[in-house]
Amino acid sequence: MLEQVVGIAAGLLVAGIVAAIVLRRMGAVEARAAEVSRGYRLLFENNPAPMFVYEKRTLRFLAVNEAALAYYGFTRDEFATMTLIDIRPVEDVPALMKNVADSHDRLERSTGWRHRLKDGSLREVEITSHSIDFEGRDARHVMVTDVTEKARAIKARDALADRLTHQSLHDGLTGLANRTLLLDRIEHAIARTQRSKSPLAVMFFDIDGFKRVNEAFGSAVGDLLLMKIADRMRRELRPEDTVARVGADEFGILLEDTELARTKSVADRIFSAIRTPVDIGDETVKVRMSAGIAFNNGSGTGQELLRQADVARQAAKDRGRDRYELFEPGMQEVVLKRARLLTELEKAVSNQELRLVYQPIISLSSSQITSLEGLVRWDHPKDGVVMPEDFIPLAEETELICTVGSWVLEEALQQTGRWRADSARLSNLAVSVNVSPRQLQDPKMDQEIARMISVNGLEAGNVTLEITETRLLEDFAWTVRKLQELRDLGVKIAIDDFGTGYSSLSYLQRLPVDILKIDKSFVDGITKGPEEAALAQGIVRLGHSLNLLTVAEGIEHEDQADALREWGCDYGQGFFFSKPLDVPGVADMLANAS
Ligand code: C2E
Ligand code: MG
Ligand code: MG
Repeated sequence: MLEQVVGIAAGLLVAGIVAAIVLRRMGAVEARAAEVSRGYRLLFENNPAPMFVYEKRTLRFLAVNEAALAYYGFTRDEFATMTLIDIRPVEDVPALMKNVADSHDRLERSTGWRHRLKDGSLREVEITSHSIDFEGRDARHVMVTDVTEKARAIKARDALADRLTHQSLHDGLTGLANRTLLLDRIEHAIARTQRSKSPLAVMFFDIDGFKRVNEAFGSAVGDLLLMKIADRMRRELRPEDTVARVGADEFGILLEDTELARTKSVADRIFSAIRTPVDIGDETVKVRMSAGIAFNNGSGTGQELLRQADVARQAAKDRGRDRYELFEPGMQEVVLKRARLLTELEKAVSNQELRLVYQPIISLSSSQITSLEGLVRWDHPKDGVVMPEDFIPLAEETELICTVGSWVLEEALQQTGRWRADSARLSNLAVSVNVSPRQLQDPKMDQEIARMISVNGLEAGNVTLEITETRLLEDFAWTVRKLQELRDLGVKIAIDDFGTGYSSLSYLQRLPVDILKIDKSFVDGITKGPEEAALAQGIVRLGHSLNLLTVAEGIEHEDQADALREWGCDYGQGFFFSKPLDVPGVADMLANAS
């Protein structure tokens, strides 16, 4: 600081301003002039700031002070042969020439210059300069302040600020944009669309069952999975598209200047990239996503557009997941209706609006009823009977499925206990109950089931828990452990809707199950043609080769039952034998069967 003050004072001296003041105070003019000149020389020579004088026309150095010699590292003799250009990097020379040409008589201060030292290093300098008459030559006096360190500190501060800005607009885990940045980009894109009229699309993705991945494998695996998914998404997009992580397992994408066909093809590509199983350590995780897409024509806000995409995503989930839907105005209503249904379902259990119907499972060899599958119905006070497809998937998205599920278990086991007690002939009657994977998360589930079996006078071997194949595979390793715990109680495990999922033979071998329930679609195939019939037979064979009992679902015709019996399928279930019946209906059927 002191150096600067002294340096600037010296610059002013050269300009003659101080000289004028000094002159006024002195006596004889000549003596004063000599004094000033000496004073100036002293200030110039001894100034701690590097200073020099150069001739404007030739750019040759005319005078250099001690500090400049020390600073630049050249000797006085070397300076005598040099021009200003010799202390500038080549690329700065054009700017230098212009600056010299434009220089005024005023004292000038300018920054952003680089000077080269003798050792070749480049320094950032600030220049304070002024035109003078030097021994009759048109010259400029220059004082140099080295600002390299200061510039470095400013650059570091700017970089830090940039980083903080980046952090506040990006997701720390995946490095993707965050919700704030996505919304900002959507807002800007909407504004551009108003002028260009080329539409933009917003996609909203979420991972089906991500919470379960976290619970099954731990959050470190969950984090790795999110990073891999982020990578896969990024790879399917152009650099100018924005992909953001907008929630724990939610991603948003902005496509500008797009139309329906391209948007769909991007969505398709992302879906197929995501469906490839992800290997993390020893685990292979299958990922499924649901997505919604909303288009914008230049009206509305970013928030609205994102919400529309979210509503469409909800609709995709409701329509069976692992898919995307385009937003339509009517969707909002449907989604709201489902939300209302969910609130009402919360009360349905305590209001006793749920009931079970039962469908018999028949031994194909003896034609005897061996078991009953409990199927839930909801007697809605306004909407009438609601079928499980319309509320079970909904309940599965929340903890509600556990309340519904444990009611179903309790009810089915109690009722079976009653039927068995009513007739000695039915003392071996078995029961099947559908179970959602989420129920398996309840750590007390095995204790609960053991209790229900014992209080209702059942044997564990007469209770089957059915789990849908597609759900089983969502987090395989964890499910295997859970099923094994249940099986240790002695209950049987059935894979429901078998053939609709992706089970490979190796998966099947590792699953602790007892029964394959062959999906209705294969049973339908039996009467369609030889190829499809062979497929159904193949599945029966597969079950047997794995030592599993086989149950064919959805038998509607006698010839289907005959073929299955011939192939050695163990059990059958379907409208051909009986539709699901209420409790009195079952009692009648059981009485008639005797
Ligand atoms: P699921 O366990 O595969 O049950 C068989 C479904 O197929 C039942 O439909 C049954 O009525 C129907 N079905 C049986 N035979 C035939 C036939 O010959 N033809 C036709 N067209 N359909 C037949 P439902 O009762 O609507 O149940 C549908 C699904 O809802 C069930 O499939 C099951 O996955 C689920 N579900 C039902 N009750 C419960 C429950 O208490 N808890 C859980 N988690 N899921 C349940
Ligand atoms: Mg079932
Ligand atoms: Mg089924």
